[in-house]
Amino acid sequence: MNTEYAATRNRDLLAENDAEIHAALAGEERRQRLGIELIPSENYTYPEVLAVLGSVFTNKYSEGYPGRRYYGGQEFTDVIERTARSRARKLFGAEHANVQPLSGAPMNAAVYLAMLEPGDTVLGMDLSHGGHLTHGAPVSHMGKLYNWIRYKSDPSAGGRIDFDALRATAIEHRPKLVVCGYSSYPRDYDYAEFKAIADEVGAMTMADVSHIGGLIAGGVMSNPCDYGFDFVTTTTHKSLRGPRGGMILTKKEFRRAIDSSVFPGLQGGPHMNQVAGVAVTLGKALEPSFKDYAQAVLANARALAAALMAGGAKLVTGGTDNHMMVLDCVASFGIDGRVAEEALDEVSITCNKQIIPDDPNPPLRPSGIRLGTPAATTRGMGLGEMERLAGWILRTLQSHDDERTLARVKGEVEELCSGFPVPGLP
Ligand SMILES: *Cc1c(COP(=O)(O)O)cnc(C)c1O
Repeated sequence: MNTEYAATRNRDLLAENDAEIHAALAGEERRQRLGIELIPSENYTYPEVLAVLGSVFTNKYSEGYPGRRYYGGQEFTDVIERTARSRARKLFGAEHANVQPLSGAPMNAAVYLAMLEPGDTVLGMDLSHGGHLTHGAPVSHMGKLYNWIRYKSDPSAGGRIDFDALRATAIEHRPKLVVCGYSSYPRDYDYAEFKAIADEVGAMTMADVSHIGGLIAGGVMSNPCDYGFDFVTTTTHKSLRGPRGGMILTKKEFRRAIDSSVFPGLQGGPHMNQVAGVAVTLGKALEPSFKDYAQAVLANARALAAALMAGGAKLVTGGTDNHMMVLDCVASFGIDGRVAEEALDEVSITCNKQIIPDDPNPPLRPSGIRLGTPAATTRGMGLGEMERLAGWILRTLQSHDDERTLARVKGEVEELCSGFPVPGLP
């Protein structure tokens, strides 16, 4: 059986039988090919992952865990789930891995469900300082269920977490769990400090490394598993470059609690096509070349940040130590993040508007935008391209209402992109 033929034939059937959805797919392929993706939580997955995502594993019900399932016919699903788990343990140095969470939010909910009672006190990073919605934002059900106390970074101290304030907060509120992790924070963490404070007040520790899972796997950022964290959670579709999904890494003592919290506590059948994609992704991340990728993501982020700042842009915390940066558009250009996002959209550069620490503006018109390099690096873009990209971003934001400038920049962006193919697209 020729698999290339199968993929082509499946695609032809879609084109013949559902023109509407096929046209949308073709449009999205074109959009991804012609534009530069700078949303820090996005990436282009491997062609091998696309192959298993669109495979017959999606037909299979596999409630339970390898060797202990509620349905027959698990000979091959057990192989992929066992492989994914052992690759995850090896990659992060963890004692146990659960690879079934359908995505990042249910992954975090599963840890909370396993370890907390409603009303328990938890420490989490403030949303405007970079924390995620699942770390206690009142709009999330996890925010309503538990008593969240928020801590902040100190933007004037290079974005360092204010650990003195965190220790005082922990002593005052006696949390059961200390959560660290972020979606919009351009620095690395001092995990030893978090762990010491948690130990001091008898709290458990959780690091949600969803954004930087791939950078930890590639050895360029600190790994909370090395610091004795009880739970480390990560999405699989961001810097790890896999299918959409989530993983929970934990110690042996919490294995049963976590596994039964994911299923049957929170979910029904796992998405086995996705678990197969996670296994492939983790295999790729164990290859030596993945370290080169992780290093290039960081080098590109540093280069982009330096070129933007040289052109007068103001970055939150004054730079970056990871794959992302937060640009204060109000301070830099006198426009809000929504205007900036829309102007960049017009030139085929995709980013997202972003609140900045203690943002005076509302979430749909925040002061900043968030930019990141994992996706552009996957396409093979390097330091020279980052230099050009910074020039285009600066021109676009300075001249956001000048249609002729925007049209010229868009042409240059799309021309560059035509030289950097998207993995999995012809
Ligand atoms: C992206 C992200 C999540 C949630 O992932 P989804 O797959 O969107 O549910 C959770 N935590 C952090 C820190 C994230 O960045």
